[in-house]
Amino acid sequence: MKVEVKSLKVDLDGVLILKDVSLKVNKGEFFGIVGKNGSGKTTLLRALAKFYPKEGLIYIDGKEIGEISLDELAKIVGVVPQEFELNVNFTVEQFVALGRIPYIRIFESKMDRDVVNRVIESLKCPKKRIVRTLSGGEKQRVLIAKALAQEPKVLLLDEPTSHLDIKHQIEIVRILKSLAKMGLTVIATFHDLNLALNFCDRIAIMKDGRILKVCKPEEVDSDVLKEAFDVEVEVANLNGWKVVIPKV
Ligand code: ADP
Repeated sequence: MKVEVKSLKVDLDGVLILKDVSLKVNKGEFFGIVGKNGSGKTTLLRALAKFYPKEGLIYIDGKEIGEISLDELAKIVGVVPQEFELNVNFTVEQFVALGRIPYIRIFESKMDRDVVNRVIESLKCPKKRIVRTLSGGEKQRVLIAKALAQEPKVLLLDEPTSHLDIKHQIEIVRILKSLAKMGLTVIATFHDLNLALNFCDRIAIMKDGRILKVCKPEEVDSDVLKEAFDVEVEVANLNGWKVVIPKV
């Protein structure tokens, strides 16, 4: 589904955090949001999931989110939060099944179980393990599986790679890329510019609650990164990979 944001403003406790944000994300796009700490990435992502009162408009597949009930939204938008304390004593299977709550009326149906099994298998999650005992990479896959069990059309992820080593970072962004290729709209915030530049279809660069630029990774240059991050960098190309190198 297409996501469109028009003149979005979010005020948290009297502070204007998002200041006139507009952007369009296409169906099946892997869209990255970058910017330094406090630039408003998480707030933007949460606003897309209707966490906050807002000014301005957010359309999901042409419908303004104010007109979408939370029940309905839970079937359209899946959210993978940041730094989730995943210390629960559920098995992976039980935890992922929580993603079916928006669909469950009285009892879990065979269809619910089929969806849960399908996402667990597709993300190679260890179904019978206790979630609390999993590694960081496994927990991140389980969190994504739970969001996918909602069968969303839009997946929002806040720093999905931040606590992972390089192998698991790449594993997660590859999963996200393939989900987008299958038609899911994937919007994720990233700390790691190199991951965003090499895997996302397009990137929004944020600063002080505004979007400085939305562009393809190949159009991200050292000028816009200096403006966004207040640091001199060079964007190099190494064997086909874009690499951001600080000039210090
Ligand atoms: P990012 O994800 O880019 O690090 P955030 O969206 O988390 O940025 O935060 C943007 C700004 O909003 C930060 O300066 C943060 O301190 C502020 N902020 C976040 N939540 C609140 C809140 N509930 N009340 C006031 N300010 C907040």
